[in-house]
Amino acid sequence: MQKTALVTGASRGIGHAVAKLLLSEHYRVMGISRTLPMNLPDLIPLSADLSDLEQLPQVADEVLNALGHIDVLVHNAGISCHGLFQEIPEKKLQKLYALNLAAPIQLTRLLLPSMLQRHKGNIICISSIWGETGASCEVDYSVTKGGLIAFVKGLAKEVGLSGIRVNAVSPGTICTDMMIPLGAETLKTLTDETALGRLGTAMDVAQLVSFLASDQSDYITGQNISINGGVI
Ligand code: NAD
Repeated sequence: MQKTALVTGASRGIGHAVAKLLLSEHYRVMGISRTLPMNLPDLIPLSADLSDLEQLPQVADEVLNALGHIDVLVHNAGISCHGLFQEIPEKKLQKLYALNLAAPIQLTRLLLPSMLQRHKGNIICISSIWGETGASCEVDYSVTKGGLIAFVKGLAKEVGLSGIRVNAVSPGTICTDMMIPLGAETLKTLTDETALGRLGTAMDVAQLVSFLASDQSDYITGQNISINGGVI
């Protein structure tokens, strides 16, 4: 049976690279994004605002109708949020927590029964280095990403005997649109802070996701794997 994958935030950046790589590995891939198109001819596209949590039951139905079952679920959609902790507008915070943390958890809750039924499934959350270490001026973003790591660790223990693996991937600085607001000077500093002397690419992260999605990582669950060029 052809393996299936759902990738959230597949229109650009890391999610796009993940969807592209999984398609090249002959998965049937559905990609969710706020906006279409996703520029991958074989991708099954679904447009949805995942920060609108009330939409999620309908999103889950549409996903299961299109794919039938889900082998690999990649929670990638996310936004950043910069500013002093006490100065972030409430509306922005609500969107941040809804998209980065509540949506992956809720969508998992909705899709898990179909995985449990088949005694098979693989859930991968894209967290962040800031979820591991915390970041000044990105406190709430750090909380959402740290929350994903805790989610992965707890759920992996609950569903391991049901044949389902759950892992997180924590990228350092990856060259995508999300990094544009940081500016050239900050990006240079972040580059200098890596042991490898370069920032990551979306494909660097996609290759790790592909490994975690594959049977080659069959004995890995409940882990958070850092991919950051060896941040010093
Ligand atoms: P990006 O901004 O390039 O892409 C984000 C994707 O999420 C897009 O496809 C966008 O359409 C989608 N998206 C945004 N809001 C959405 C919404 N409300 N509903 C549905 N989809 C929505 O970002 P990226 O750099 O590729 O980041 C992808 C993930 O990796 C994010 O969770 C981010 O926090 C994480 N991450 C990125 C970096 C980095 O350096 N780029 C580092 C660590 C973690």
